Parts: sequence; structure tokens; C-alpha cells
Amino acid sequence: MSVRVRIAPSPTGNLHIGTARTALFNWLFARHHGGQFILRIEDTDLERSKPEYVENILSGLKWLGLDWDEGPFFQTDRMALYQSGIQKLIDKGLVYRSYETAEELEAMRELQKAQKIAPRYDNRHRHLTKEEEERFIAEGRQAVLRFKIDDEREIKWQDMVRGEVVWQGKDLGGDMVIARASGQPLYNFVVVMDDIDMKITHVIRGEDHIGNTPKQILLYEALGAAVPQFGHTPLILNQAGAKLSKRDGATSVDDYRAMGYLPEAFNNYMLLLGWSPPDTRELYRLEEVIPLFDSDRINKAGARFDRDKLNWINSQYLHSMATDALLELVFPLWQKAGYVTETDRSDPWLLAVLELIKTSLTLLQDAVTISGYLFQDIPDYTEEAKSVLANDKVSLFLQQMIAILSDCQDLDEAQAKAAIEQMIKDQGVKKGVVMKPLRCALTGDVHGPDLMTSLVLLHQKNKAIPRLNYVLNGFK
Ligand code: GLU
Repeated sequence: MSVRVRIAPSPTGNLHIGTARTALFNWLFARHHGGQFILRIEDTDLERSKPEYVENILSGLKWLGLDWDEGPFFQTDRMALYQSGIQKLIDKGLVYRSYETAEELEAMRELQKAQKIAPRYDNRHRHLTKEEEERFIAEGRQAVLRFKIDDEREIKWQDMVRGEVVWQGKDLGGDMVIARASGQPLYNFVVVMDDIDMKITHVIRGEDHIGNTPKQILLYEALGAAVPQFGHTPLILNQAGAKLSKRDGATSVDDYRAMGYLPEAFNNYMLLLGWSPPDTRELYRLEEVIPLFDSDRINKAGARFDRDKLNWINSQYLHSMATDALLELVFPLWQKAGYVTETDRSDPWLLAVLELIKTSLTLLQDAVTISGYLFQDIPDYTEEAKSVLANDKVSLFLQQMIAILSDCQDLDEAQAKAAIEQMIKDQGVKKGVVMKPLRCALTGDVHGPDLMTSLVLLHQKNKAIPRLNYVLNGFK
């Protein structure tokens, strides 16, 4: 039997991290078993589903590289299938029309609350007589369709993540609505119809769906179909241990993309969020995980979303990335910041800039902030840098530096270092006494990437001497 799994997002919001992680696990499971990964858009909630969310979900999955083999299928295109399933259940006597008004249902709930019993539908319209039904219709009541649930049934399955799970029929809330009065079929029913039709063998989804699974198993049985295997993955939690929600800040894949995370790093982090690698290694590219991925290693306990860990993983991927590939990603950001224009694209100086700052990056966007001083004509001088430069001796060093640079247009790092060391020796001062003001004058800050390389890069673009003069001239 070939493995067929699916991701079935509802387009009622942008691609959520939880959905992306479920997609990742399904994708890995399919690739591990040489099976198929199917994309189904569950858009039956007409009020809340939006085309822009569909776009966002598709582009998010593509960005992560989670390619699907079939789909996207849209549930709204598949209504005829659902109608045939409903008819089948009606013909078998497993579904009936139920005519309660909203007020009656509300009164039922209030009474249950007062009696301190869990709210459920009390199956009151399961056995209506023909006369009662005609009276309701004559009153103009609308009927929903309910699927009969046997309170005495015990429903069990062997969960791929959680082991044996057992539910009692009486805990499922009474006979279940599978279609609204408008005829619109509802979630639990359409999911089962689709999973049967798409020959899904394993349903791997978030733990928040665990209460739906017993209901769905009853529907498989009623429809005479084989029940797939189920696996419920743990929830993603916030730092406080509660379910990650919008209030915790960024929750969509798009947010992370915009903040400057790499898809490889994001996948790696999502993988660790719920799956235990076989050894202590933490950095995994997807192609390396495919042979290793087995559902036994999916954790049962919820996983806390840890931004520091994600940042660390992202920095590792950025630091090890080939510089020319990194330039492809950074160039548009530099363009947006006004540092470069299209004509600069093949300037090797840009590669040298990236070489210099690469190991300081945590997010892609850091490449803009950290490199700013190299692109500006005159950098913004911090107050701290200005106070370092206020020392009397400084002007002497800066003048000497100008002399060195003026003599040598093609200065390389070794020459720059030798010249500065000579200067330190001549002055009989400590290294820092020269280096610190030099850094401040050239970069505008007391900290930053390697000074010698910065000096050479600035000089190559004729920015070093003007800066030194600017400082000597009282920042004018
Ligand atoms: N549409 C459901 C959701 O977005 C997923 C249903 C399922 O995986 O069975 O949560």
C-alpha cells in the first residue's frame, strides 16, 4: 500500500506555524515512504475563507519547499461528492432531519448547565413521527442533518504518536450535525468524504483535532470505508506553556519570512519543535531528514516556541551559506535601503562586504543594519564614538592615516596592518590608543566588523580619507 498523506488548511488566515509544521511532518512522512503528499484547501466556511489566504498558504508552502504531488483541491468544487455521501447515509437510516430552533438549543444548554452536566444534544428529534415532522415544516422550521451517534459505543484507535486512544460514544456531544439547514456540509463529514475519496492512508494533524477523530471514525464505518491511521502531533506552545496565539506576536510563516529567516532554518526549527532527532545534532537540512524521519520520534508533549533557538539556527544557516547565494537574498534588501542600484549587482566589492559581515548575521535584515557604515558617504557617529574622538591626540593619528592612505590607492589588509603597527611603534602608544579612534572615525561606532577589512573596503570606494577629514574638521 502506497502512503498517501495530506495537509488540509482552512483559508481563514495566513499560513500558521502550526499548520506549516503539520505540513512539514506530512511531507517528510510521504517522502520517507516514497508516497504522495496532497494539498487540500478546506474552504467550506464561506464567510471566513478568503482567496488572499489561499494565496498566502500556497506561497508559504512553496517558500518552505514543501512541494505537493496532487492538488490544490478545493472543497467548494466537490459539493456533488458530499451530497452523494449524505444521500448514502440517509438511505442507510444513519442520518435524520432535526428541526430545533436556535432558542430551543439554547434552552437545552442552559438546563444542562444548571444541572451541571456537559453540554450535548439530547437526540430529541432522532425519532420524530411523520406528523411531528410535517408540523415543524408547516411552522417554517429549517432542518439540519444529524448523524446518529451510539452513546454505548467505545471508539479506539492506535495513534501513531500517542499510542492507544479510547473515547466513549456518550462523550461526543450527541447526534452530530453534518450539514446545515442551507445544505452546506460541515467539517467532520467533508473531511472524511475527502480522505476516503483521496485514498488517504495516514492522517497526521494537530492534537487540537483529537476530539474530531472518534466522530470521523464512526463516519468511516457508516460509509463502509477503511479507517486510515491517525497521528496527532503536539501543539506549539508559547513561552508560558499555553497554546501559541496571535497575542504572542508573529504566528504566520509570512511574518518570519519578512523578518529575515531562511526557509531552511525555519524548517529545521519546526522539525525540532515536535520531533526528536536520533542523535545530539540539531542542524538538519530536509533532504538529510527524509531517510531518518519516522513517526516514532514525534513527541507527545507540547513544544515551546523558542525564538532564541530559532535565531541561533538561522544564524548557523546564514554563516554557512555560500556568499554569492547570500548576495542574491541580500541585494534586494540593500536596494530597498538605497545602498545599491541594479548596476552594482556584479560589483565584487559587495561580495567582500558580505564576507566581512556574514558571521555577524542572525537575520537576513541584519545585513542592512550592520553594513550601513560601508555604504553611507559619512556614517552616523554615535555619541560614544564622538567622545572617543574628542581626545587631543586623535588628530595626529588621523592625519598620519590620511598620509598612509593617500600614498597607496590599492592598499591591502596586510599593508594597512603594517602601516598602523608602524604608527603605533613610532608614537610609543598601546594598540588600542590608535585602533579605537581609528574605528570610530572610519565607522562611526566603537564596535563593529573587522577594522582592517573595513578600512580597505572603505578606501576602495574612496570613503576613508573623506571621513577622516570630516572628523578632523569637527564633523563638518
Ligand atoms: N482544516 C483543518 C484545519 O485547518 C484541518 C483538518 C484536518 O487536518 O483534518 O485545522
